[in-house]
Amino acid sequence: MSGANRKHYFGAGPAAMPASVLEQMARDVLDYNRSGISILSIPHRDEAFAEILQEANELVLQLANLDPEEYDVLWLQGGGRMQFAMLPMNFLGPDQQAGYIDSGHWAHDAMKTARYYGNAVPIATSAREQYRQLPAWPSHLPKDLRYLHITSNNTIYGTQWQQIPATPVPLVADMSSDIFSGKRNYQQFSLIYAVAQKNLGPAGVTLIIARKSFIQNPVRDLPDVLSYKAQVKAGSLLNTPPVGAIYNCLLVLRWIHENGLDIIIANNEQKSAMLYAAIDNNPLFQSPIKGSDRSSMNVVFTMKNPEQEAGFISFCKERDIEGIKGHRSVGGFRASLYNAVSISDVELLVQAMKDFIPG
Ligand code: PMP
Repeated sequence: MSGANRKHYFGAGPAAMPASVLEQMARDVLDYNRSGISILSIPHRDEAFAEILQEANELVLQLANLDPEEYDVLWLQGGGRMQFAMLPMNFLGPDQQAGYIDSGHWAHDAMKTARYYGNAVPIATSAREQYRQLPAWPSHLPKDLRYLHITSNNTIYGTQWQQIPATPVPLVADMSSDIFSGKRNYQQFSLIYAVAQKNLGPAGVTLIIARKSFIQNPVRDLPDVLSYKAQVKAGSLLNTPPVGAIYNCLLVLRWIHENGLDIIIANNEQKSAMLYAAIDNNPLFQSPIKGSDRSSMNVVFTMKNPEQEAGFISFCKERDIEGIKGHRSVGGFRASLYNAVSISDVELLVQAMKDFIPG
């Protein structure tokens, strides 16, 4: 929505998308590239879609600064939870160990899912702190880990790893809520996955970036649909892929590329700095997260008097500010500042916090 009706939307996912992307997508739903056929109807094995996939894969590797000789890109279905299962299915045998950094609900779920396949051990955890902080980074890692899994940004609690130390074992990251949003050395990872519905596009597709050497030897026989190696061999075309969702992701990737990732990162830093300052400087609000652990993507905050929270949500609604209610397990507020959320959207939220007088 680019018209007068457009809300300032801070939802955690499915999330806001750039207005120009939505406009282009709307045109292509009616008539893709003047073909007379909708993007939702073009055949997945035709040249037109081959070009879409190729450009999307190239842009992903370019934005991540990764060498196509070393890394493959996949677009799969089943969301984050499918990756929680597919990862250990491929790489964790029944007598083997994998390490998990237990930094939140999704990280924990990934670890629990891995236990269907092998020994998934918490290498660090902040469960006792209700995940309101990141755990301390482990001082040493067991050497026999098949991989170490980390969730780079904890969407529900609003914590984020700014720096991720080098690891002696293959590092795997769930980057669902912060891919292409901040400074990252993508080369340190053996496998990255990210659901699309936050920073990349619509729900229905998950991006996977995998080091070729890492996915070559699955630990067990798997049906092709569950094997990274077989999926790469089929070029994300083993089954009918979500053509429209992947195309929509391509439009977002182009938008990131055209704006410049550096500019987007600088905007994100400005957006989160503005909002955290507004929280810290306002006697009505507070952040439960200490400075160094704070996420630039999901800003979680509360009111010192929780009884005033419903009033603030209504006050925001009157100003067309939507999607700030906190996750049901945490309460309070969560403003998601993904790439498509603009500086002016955040300025409006900050102004609303200043103007709010509890009734
Ligand atoms: N990982 C993270 C970091 C998430 O935030 C989410 C969901 N919001 C998931 C995984 C789960 O994704 P899905 O609902 O697509 O399974």
